[in-house]
Amino acid sequence: MSFEADGIVKHASRGWSAVTDGQLTPPPPEHVLDHLVRHYVIPDDAEFEFAELLLTTAPTTVALIDQLPLCDLCAHEGRPATPARYDACASRRGSGPWAYMCGDCFMMRSSQMLGLGLGQYLITRSDLDEGMRSAFDSARNHWIARGADPPNFSPFDEE
Ligand SMILES: [Zn+2]
Repeated sequence: MSFEADGIVKHASRGWSAVTDGQLTPPPPEHVLDHLVRHYVIPDDAEFEFAELLLTTAPTTVALIDQLPLCDLCAHEGRPATPARYDACASRRGSGPWAYMCGDCFMMRSSQMLGLGLGQYLITRSDLDEGMRSAFDSARNHWIARGADPPNFSPFDEE
């Protein structure tokens, strides 16, 4: 696992393929760290946003939430309740209504792409391991050393 010192993914593509060789592929740890840094280190710092962040395209493939929702499509179609890992456009062509989807539904019913306007892979705090915590702390210190003023809350705080 290799991270940029500032935690920001450079040259992210506009859409990221979430299926490889017919298998669901979670976004890489670099995308998780990018999400955490953009939301929990520099969210309110306009100077840094404009200087650094708006010049780079965020992967936007990950969203951190408190608890996984249930799959909307399984519920709608009478299948057993299944946790949803995806919040994405429920259309093969990538336009139309969004839904929370389990892996099977995402595979069959979405464009299989993640990113801005396409969909996000849902993670909870329990998905964040010690490696991610230390990478986040390093990136946070990096931004503080550059004069950023992060909020007091952190994605690793207990509820
Ligand atoms: Zn489903």
